[in-house]
Amino acid sequence: MPSAVAEAPTIQKSTDTMRALVFQSPNRIALERVPIPKPGVGEAVIRITLTTICGTDLHILKGEYKVRPGLIIGHEPVGVIHELGAGVTGYAVGQRVLVGAITPCGQCHDCLSGHWSQCGGPIGGWKFGNTIHGAQAEYLLVPNAQANLARIPDELTDEQVVLLADIASTGISAAESAPVRIGDAVAVFAQGPIGLCASAGARLKGASLVIGVESDTFRAETARRMGADVVVNYLEQDVVEEIRRITGGRGVDVAIEALGTQNTFEGALRVLKPGGTLSSLGVYSGKLTLPLEPFAAGLGDHKIVTTLCPGGKERMRVLLELVRHGRLNLAPLLTHTFPLDRIIEAYELFGSRRDNVIKVGIRP
Ligand SMILES: [Zn+2]
Ligand SMILES: [Zn+2]
Repeated sequence: MPSAVAEAPTIQKSTDTMRALVFQSPNRIALERVPIPKPGVGEAVIRITLTTICGTDLHILKGEYKVRPGLIIGHEPVGVIHELGAGVTGYAVGQRVLVGAITPCGQCHDCLSGHWSQCGGPIGGWKFGNTIHGAQAEYLLVPNAQANLARIPDELTDEQVVLLADIASTGISAAESAPVRIGDAVAVFAQGPIGLCASAGARLKGASLVIGVESDTFRAETARRMGADVVVNYLEQDVVEEIRRITGGRGVDVAIEALGTQNTFEGALRVLKPGGTLSSLGVYSGKLTLPLEPFAAGLGDHKIVTTLCPGGKERMRVLLELVRHGRLNLAPLLTHTFPLDRIIEAYELFGSRRDNVIKVGIRP
């Protein structure tokens, strides 16, 4: 992304404007000075203290996922309440909060049917940096604040919790949606940020065996720290054969797809035992086809489930408790941190996967 790596000018702080990363057009993002948002009824404004860059933001930057020019991107906010709109109760200015990447309204048909992430329609719960301004800025307007502001326990640092907003909530949800049961064998295809959290989720749900699929040495090593018992390198081994061998020929109870390609989807299907569940997290582009032989021509009792990152303050509270009580440690995943002024550089590093980067913290 040559146009994106140009040196961003340093912009000074001021009282009514803020620095924010704005999507201008495909392959063009820039730090701009924009007005600090004001909260309306039911809304809140938080001052961002830490955020991060998601793989989805790279798709936006490349123009592969379309958002409107002028939109502030980013959807993983940790901050301090700066201003509360009318009608938001039980919170005070100055409190530290985590807000999920997905901000359900809690009122609509989809929310009240239990499909919070699909608030208002397909993928509708994903608002930050998609349909409304996002978190890669000094301040962020939080819609439906009453449903979405999760207090951060004092003993937890921003760094310990920032990855809960998106990748941990998403990764763990794959194990929950399947659902993984105590004693299950689970394979997780791809150990990127979300796959690593899926491995942690499978372990949390009581899997007896978690098999990661990954070729990158550092990510394979990180997978073992996050909960994988074995990591199969698809460049060195036939993944399907190896996973069948490890599971005594049975196949796995749950295969989690965490990349979004035909190959990994197919691999996940091929390692399933009859009646197993393919829990899909990847974002697919182009055409996804279902191979008939591993799908047992439609007669294998397989289940295929998909999950969009769960959000809302109760989801965040539960995840915060996992970190607080030592069940989940995301520290190995936050490999780099940059100030907001150098966010273009951070995008370049994250996009290139250089220097063993997994997730990049951004501090306004
Ligand atoms: Zn994301
Ligand atoms: Zn809703």
